[in-house]
Amino acid sequence: MENRIIMFHHCEKDIYCFYVPEQCPICGQSLIGRRLEDAPVSIPNSFVDGHHEKCSFLIKPTKGSFLREYDGRSDLHVGISNTSGVVYNYIETGVQRDDRGWEECVCVPLVQPDMYSLINQWDVYLEQFSTADIWLPNRYNEYEYNCYSYALTFINRVLVAQSKRQLSTTEFTERYVVPRTKRASRYITLYRELCRSYFYIADGFQTEEVSSQV
Ligand SMILES: [Zn+2]
Repeated sequence: MENRIIMFHHCEKDIYCFYVPEQCPICGQSLIGRRLEDAPVSIPNSFVDGHHEKCSFLIKPTKGSFLREYDGRSDLHVGISNTSGVVYNYIETGVQRDDRGWEECVCVPLVQPDMYSLINQWDVYLEQFSTADIWLPNRYNEYEYNCYSYALTFINRVLVAQSKRQLSTTEFTERYVVPRTKRASRYITLYRELCRSYFYIADGFQTEEVSSQV
């Protein structure tokens, strides 16, 4: 498991670290007995183990991991998890059903925990969708029939089945994916800074609202 990032305020700054020091790294004052509002808080990890997230849209780098290797430009790969954490994803050789390899993902939950009937049908629905001719290996092409169109087509089928409006690629990306990948990239920056030095000092780390689910 990765280190947890912790943040506390002192000297009117936000100070990030993996371990809270005894003294403020700026002024050297003891941090023991500080006011409650200055108490350290842990920064939520932007990444989750995709195999523990059921019925979700998952994003990971095509190669390597977000925290260690991702450079902000390399290719991303996406998939949809079933109710037991198997990640369905479409690649050149057809639909893959991965039970490992998605341990560090950005996650967009697709159902609420109380949507019982949808959850009950999810696996059958995902399996049927994935065996359709449209996702045969020979149809794969980087621009039209790829991992993203596979996942988004599935999401839209689910929305239609619930009599909800479908989402365009742009809409889905801007509303659900971009806020999370932005937050993830800030987390990566912080994490890597902290692997290099004990502290990262900032004037204030903005937290954005992220829509909870589709
Ligand atoms: Zn201080």
